[in-house]
Amino acid sequence: MNFDLTEEQRVMVQAVKDFATKEIAPNLKKEEFDRELVRKMGSLGLFGCAFSVGMGGSDLGFLAHSIVCEQVSSYDSGLRSLFNLQALTVPYTIMEWGNDLLRKRYVKALVTGEKLGCTCFSEPNAGSDIAAIETEVIDKGDHYLINGIKTWISNGTVADYAIVYCTFNRSLKHKGLCAIVVETDQGGWQPKEIPKLGDKSSPIAEVFIEDVVVPKENLLGEWGGGFKVAMTALDRGRISVSSGALGICQACLNASVKYAKERVQFGRLIRDYQMVKHIIADMATYTEAARLLVRWAAWLNDQGRPFTREIAIAKYFAGEAAVRAAGWAMEIHGGMGYSLDLPVEKYYRDSKLYQIGEGTANMMRLIIADDALGIKKANRARSKIPSDFRDLN
Ligand SMILES: Cc1cc2nc3c(=O)[nH]c(=O)nc-3n(C[C@H](O)[C@H](O)[C@H](O)COP(=O)(O)OP(=O)(O)OC[C@H]3O[C@@H](n4cnc5c(N)ncnc54)[C@H](O)[C@@H]3O)c2cc1C
Repeated sequence: MNFDLTEEQRVMVQAVKDFATKEIAPNLKKEEFDRELVRKMGSLGLFGCAFSVGMGGSDLGFLAHSIVCEQVSSYDSGLRSLFNLQALTVPYTIMEWGNDLLRKRYVKALVTGEKLGCTCFSEPNAGSDIAAIETEVIDKGDHYLINGIKTWISNGTVADYAIVYCTFNRSLKHKGLCAIVVETDQGGWQPKEIPKLGDKSSPIAEVFIEDVVVPKENLLGEWGGGFKVAMTALDRGRISVSSGALGICQACLNASVKYAKERVQFGRLIRDYQMVKHIIADMATYTEAARLLVRWAAWLNDQGRPFTREIAIAKYFAGEAAVRAAGWAMEIHGGMGYSLDLPVEKYYRDSKLYQIGEGTANMMRLIIADDALGIKKANRARSKIPSDFRDLN
């Protein structure tokens, strides 16, 4: 076992830190979406670790992707959300399930940040239960027609391309699902921003989809095979999400250590009080445990091995760790934790998402428990990546 980062990964970490110090940190207080910043992140190659050079990437893999997400999230968790949309759940899903035409048309533009993506699973009546999706797709012979409402869509107000999960027959449940790439520059695509607690640099929308027309080549996988597409997309997305939770843990630990070494009460630095030390010890332990779990799952993916169980464990633990770390950071900072002058209150607001998005904590527990109990094995053979996957230009 080797837990050291490679030279390439170390260089990547430093590049992200330099970028974040210069471009992210000065604007943190704004907490708003910045289109130009996304372009810069794309041109620096931050979204491209899992993609070949020809597709706008660096071929460094999912572990490198995870490390980049962790770093970005330690500055701004909202920007970490982009890594799902500009790397994993949109372009990687197109790479994995789309035809060459779709790969050429959409992947590089997303990975380089030239275009923006979004993933549309959730609906007012279908959250954890994806098989309950009601958005309807009709095969009109020479094209598809889509109607429905999606909600909680990250990048929903700004995306150029969306992967829409829809059904051709609700009574078939998961067997009726289809995954279709939609270009959003049509009148029938109407997003409406949803105000929210945290991750404010990531815009979220309810999207009203009315008579949206899609060419038939935009189907990902098979007609009725959308559930499989969704499951692989969610597994990959969880790498980014759990890495984001880890970034928050580390940020909380850094801020708490700094504050504990500066704040004096009763004539002593608060770091000298045993109860404060306990909290710091717990934060460090949860952070390192989350890091090992997240990197383990990302590494398994890089080896081409199944990792559904391991990423569920990582995502569950890292999400819990982030929420706890943010609470502990608030505690160590006392009143200053509650102040808008320090980023601790932002970590507190942002952390909660990690128990909800890309599958709630309960959903992760279900995957883990069903696997342990032999009710449903989590790790099954994965779809084979087509041989020309890395050769496209
Ligand atoms: C900031 C943010 C960004 C998001 N971005 C996107 C996005 O880009 N695209 C997208 O499609 N969605 C997105 N979502 C939606 C997210 O994926 C859903 O919120 C999540 O899947 C949970 O669905 P729900 O909110 O409908 O909760 P529900 O599914 O209604 O769950 C409510 C509660 O019931 C529990 N529960 C439900 N079923 C079970 C069960 N069988 N066993 C035990 N407990 C259960 C849940 O764990 C939860 O605690 C985002 C959400 C947020 C908050």
